[in-house]
Amino acid sequence: MIDEQLKATIRDVPDFPKPGIVFKDITPILKDPKLCEAILTNLIMRLAVDSFDVIAGIESRGFLFGLMLAQRLGKPFVPIRKQGKLPYSAMQQEYKLEYGSATIEIHEDAFMPGARVLIHDDLLATGGTVAATSQLIQKLGGSVAGYAFIITLDFLNGKERLLSYSPNVVSLVGY
Ligand code: AMP
Repeated sequence: MIDEQLKATIRDVPDFPKPGIVFKDITPILKDPKLCEAILTNLIMRLAVDSFDVIAGIESRGFLFGLMLAQRLGKPFVPIRKQGKLPYSAMQQEYKLEYGSATIEIHEDAFMPGARVLIHDDLLATGGTVAATSQLIQKLGGSVAGYAFIITLDFLNGKERLLSYSPNVVSLVGY
């Protein structure tokens, strides 16, 4: 089962990047081409692949499997980046963090109005980042077709924050 393989491979790093956080390190997955392939096939099996036109991946670990998935499905990939990184005209969305706030951006020509967008990140924690990404996509005239994660931290209830945008949440392993 993919969830058991993932649990055996993902490395827990306690107190990174700050005390009290157990960081889920996916770099051991990237060293295993067969497991990377299994991630792609399992995501594709669980996704309604005709229900979206574009995949938006969140900086930076969302670029790894986001682009591979888009390439495999023959769909465009668009990067969601932290403020100040995108070179062309960009639209912004600010969101709250535990302390302070952050801003994410998307190129204003990332997709055509009406596009159905699948949002991908490696991990869903509180859902703040993907909720802000969902707002950004709607601001640009797109609709949120669903979400694809490798990992969800279910004890943080991030999925609940996403339901108002789309109930379609796919994930391969939950903690
Ligand atoms: P959130 O906005 O709280 O859902 O946080 C999601 C973002 O933070 C994702 O881009 C994750 O890669 C990263 N993140 C949050 N918590 C963790 C964790 N425990 N381990 C690894 N990455 C995390």
